[in-house]
Amino acid sequence: MLRDAHNRIIRDLRISLTDRCNFRCFYCLPNGEPPLARKETILTFEEIVYLSDIFVSLGIEKIRLTGGEPMLRRDIERLVGKLSLLKPKLKDLALTTNGFSIPEKAAALRAAGLDRITISLDSVDTTNFRNITGVDSLEEVFEAIEAAIQFGFAPVKINAVIVRGRNDHEIVDLAHFARETGVSMRFIEYMPLDSGHGWSREMVVPGQEIHDAINRVYPLKLKISSRGSETAWNYEFADGKPGEIGIIAPVTEMFCGACSRIRLTADGQIRTCLFSTTEHNLRDYFRSGASRAEIAQYLEAVALKKEASHHINEPDFVQPSRTMSFIGG
Ligand code: SAM
Repeated sequence: MLRDAHNRIIRDLRISLTDRCNFRCFYCLPNGEPPLARKETILTFEEIVYLSDIFVSLGIEKIRLTGGEPMLRRDIERLVGKLSLLKPKLKDLALTTNGFSIPEKAAALRAAGLDRITISLDSVDTTNFRNITGVDSLEEVFEAIEAAIQFGFAPVKINAVIVRGRNDHEIVDLAHFARETGVSMRFIEYMPLDSGHGWSREMVVPGQEIHDAINRVYPLKLKISSRGSETAWNYEFADGKPGEIGIIAPVTEMFCGACSRIRLTADGQIRTCLFSTTEHNLRDYFRSGASRAEIAQYLEAVALKKEASHHINEPDFVQPSRTMSFIGG
């Protein structure tokens, strides 16, 4: 079992499949991709499956494929198919995407064993969507959401990063979208992980403010009073309309005490926290010929180094050099 020094059990692995992305979200990758990792440093599907198998043997129950944009990894459904063979010990296999090529691939991903899809959508307005993401693809994202619903990934989760002055005026519109489509709309506070280093505390819209803005128009009912290791507080609409609201407030309501996550970057580095300033080079250790048992021991030792919490709210906070697009959100 992967247990850290603060007695938290790690059950949730996020795997970044690539550091490439075809969107230019201002809060993530505003100036385009930084120098990309060399191709030979990127883990192959076979390596990802082998390492995931070891992780699952150590108690990992959820795997989320992310990036960069994971759908840019050709034949991703082949990887999903291999990872789904780790079930039933692996209980949940999920994907976070900007929706790219989901309409064409949703059926294949479902057939390969993908359980859930989360799609990013920060605006329902064509112009604002372009301003935020740097691309003109709002219609394509709507189509991706529709395809995800149609192919049985319900409840489809939608991620919206809310940033002061950029899309906080759309909070109620996004909640309305959840009511119309039945999706789970998750509002996320802006974190200092952007490659442009444009983050400032004033740009963070607190989760409580997001909740109150929605609740004034569409009264909300908390679903369960404890969220366990989940990042979101989840609400349903009090009037019984479909859809769900999730509020994720890592900046103003830190939830590190219940964190059960560990991350594997596309180039095979382990990160024990989104805000880690050090990484553990699993790729080189594994490629040097370490045995399965040695890798398991290595992972147990790395887990013990998991940080107690992030330090965003402390005066000496240092933004990690690797950005969200590389770490994998
Ligand atoms: N490309 C995929 C996507 O767009 O969903 C997956 C990778 S993306 C890094 C994963 C999630 O991280 C997205 O929902 C994105 O909105 C979120 N994200 C990126 N930068 C962020 C930031 N600075 N603060 C909060 N969330 C962020």
